[in-house]
Order: sequence, then C-alpha cells, then structure tokens
Amino acid sequence: MTDPLKTGATIGILGGGQLGRMLSVAASRLGFKTCIFEPQGDCPASHVANFHYKAEYSDTDALTNFANACDIITFEFENIPTEALDIIEAITPIHPNRDALATSQDRFLEKNFLTRIGLQTAPYATVDTAETLEQAIDQIGTPAILKTRRMGYDGKGQSRLMSPDDAPQALADMAGAPAVYEGFIDFSIEVSVIGTRGADGSVSCFDPGENVHLNGILHTTTVPAKLSPSQRTDAILLTANILNALDYVGTMGVELFVTPHGLIVNEIAPRVHNSGHWTQQGCVVDQFEQHIRAIAGWPLGDGTRHSNVTMENLIGNDVDRLAQIAKTNTAIHLYGKADAKAGRKMGHINTVTGPAA
Ligand code: AMP
Repeated sequence: MTDPLKTGATIGILGGGQLGRMLSVAASRLGFKTCIFEPQGDCPASHVANFHYKAEYSDTDALTNFANACDIITFEFENIPTEALDIIEAITPIHPNRDALATSQDRFLEKNFLTRIGLQTAPYATVDTAETLEQAIDQIGTPAILKTRRMGYDGKGQSRLMSPDDAPQALADMAGAPAVYEGFIDFSIEVSVIGTRGADGSVSCFDPGENVHLNGILHTTTVPAKLSPSQRTDAILLTANILNALDYVGTMGVELFVTPHGLIVNEIAPRVHNSGHWTQQGCVVDQFEQHIRAIAGWPLGDGTRHSNVTMENLIGNDVDRLAQIAKTNTAIHLYGKADAKAGRKMGHINTVTGPAA
C-alpha cells in the first residue's frame, strides 16, 4: 500500500458526467483538487472541477499531460478505450484496477468471473452468428434477452426474445456486435448493493436498495429494500466477495435479482452508481466520499444508514415538475445540463421518509 494522498493533491477523473461532478464535490470537501478528462465542453463535472482536459481519448499528448497533472486517477464510466488507459497508467496509478475494468466491460467475461467465484448468474451463452444463437436457444430456451457484450447501458443494446421466432430480429438488433444470450429471470424485486474496498483491504457495504426501472432506465431506489435479514446478509457478503476477488480499491455497484432460489447477479459496475445516490441523504459518509477515501488510501467512513430514503431520477422533462414533486424533506441534486432531452438524466431527488427502520 502506498502512502495516503495528502490534502491538496490532485485527483484525475476520466469522464465529466454527473458521477464525475459528484465525485469532484466529494474530493473537494476532503481538500483535494480535481482534474477531469472529457471531450465535451460544458459538461456536468466541468462546472465544479479545478481543471478540465477537453480532448479526445485518442489524443496521446492530452492524455500524457493529464496523467502528469494528477497524483492518482479514477473514472466515472467503464467504457474507456484500452489504449488511453495504457498511456495513463504508465505515468499515474489508476483505481479501481484494470482487471476490474476489463471484467465489467464485457458481459461474457463478467459472467465467467462471477460463476468462477461461486455466484449465481442468469444462464448464459455467447452469440456471434445465427447458428450460435440457435444453439443458445436450444440450450437455454425462451423467454430470454440478447445483450451486446460491450458498451450496453440503461437497457441499450438489448433485445428480448419471447419465442425462437424472435431470433432474426434479435440478431439484427445486435448490428453485428458480439452478444450474450441470457435466460430470463423471474425475479420478485431488483436490488443493488454499493460497496467500497479500501487500499488496506477493509470493506464497507451500504444497505441494499430496491430499484424500479422505467423504459430500461433506473426510476427509483428505495431503502430499506424488502429483503429478509438473511437475504440482506447474503447480498452484502457476495458484494464483499466480488470486491476481494478483484483486489478492488474504490466503490462498486452490484445489481441483483431476488428470486426464491437465491440472489442472482445481473451486473457489476466498477464505479459509483446511480442506485447509490440515496446514500447522500441516508448515511453520514456517502458513496462518493467512500470512493475518494478509498482511492486516496484514507480509512473508509461509516456507511451505516441513518434514514429511510427514496431516490428518484429526474429524466428529461421531469425536471420541469420539480416544484410539484419535491417536498420539504427532499434534497435536490441537479447536474447543470443545458438541454432536457428525452431519456437524459438531468438530476435526482432524495426524499427522506423517516429515521432508519
Ligand atoms: P441491464 O442493462 O443488464 O442492467 O438490464 C436492464 C434491465 O433489464 C434490468 O435492470 C432488468 O430489469 C432487466 N433484465 C436484464 N437482464 C434480465 C434477465 N436476464 N432476466 C430478467 N430481466 C432482465
């Protein structure tokens, strides 16, 4: 373990969206400076970070200058080009590590890893062609979902098959991209655990949150989730297993399906996560501060939940109804995005519904 980062040091963040913005604010509260790398100007993180390298991920000089300007580097999204990471990592350490990133960038590698450490996933098979799709259907059956192996988020790059007749359309939806065929899980609820592992190997997980999606995008996260005590313990222990197996440093989101046959891991995200935004009003130390503490080599904080909270995403024009939906016990978080386009995450609200039950 290297020495803890000193106040005044500069933390680099790859990506300048809302997660980068909230990470920058947390880092700033701890006395660090932040430097974002993001091709887009006027992005959410650029409004609060100290420095902004506005360049493409193919710009070797900009990546080199950025890495030289930072004491440590993290990221707010997982689809960072490998070549860019090679350049940066040769100069400045990156947390979480490359293995964790590579595992979560590819749904097939991710499921192989989860299976290897003894966790349950949906039944799955790789699909590249009409023949391999036919084999997957024979092996796993329908209903099922075909998902691109890489670059999928918020339900994008996915196609549902209710019967084998849907195969040609599903394959066409993948547009030639390598895919994973997943058996459909009949779950009662979806939950996620946000967990952090420190540089010293200590692990702290937040209470599981219950997630509701609308049109493939997270709509609300509510704590406490409707879980039995043993389900809650299972969810937290399996998250700690994942963090340890990846020798992870930082905050991670683990999405789970709750079924009568146990918890099934849907996916892992090697970063702070939308379903962890409730921690801003539900805990003394939230997911963003935990992440910065971890990558800085500082001791983790106490993530115990002190309040019941419902987080609601403000998507597109939802933001115009803020006056109606926000109550006096609602904390408002807006991302400073200029245009409220359909499907765009403009902000979120955390409504505190009482002391922790
Ligand atoms: P993902 O992009 O993999 O997180 O999927 C988005 C959403 O689609 C999930 O949150 C679930 O609601 C649903 N979903 C994904 N995979 C499955 C599955 N194998 N079985 C049932 N529902 C799924």
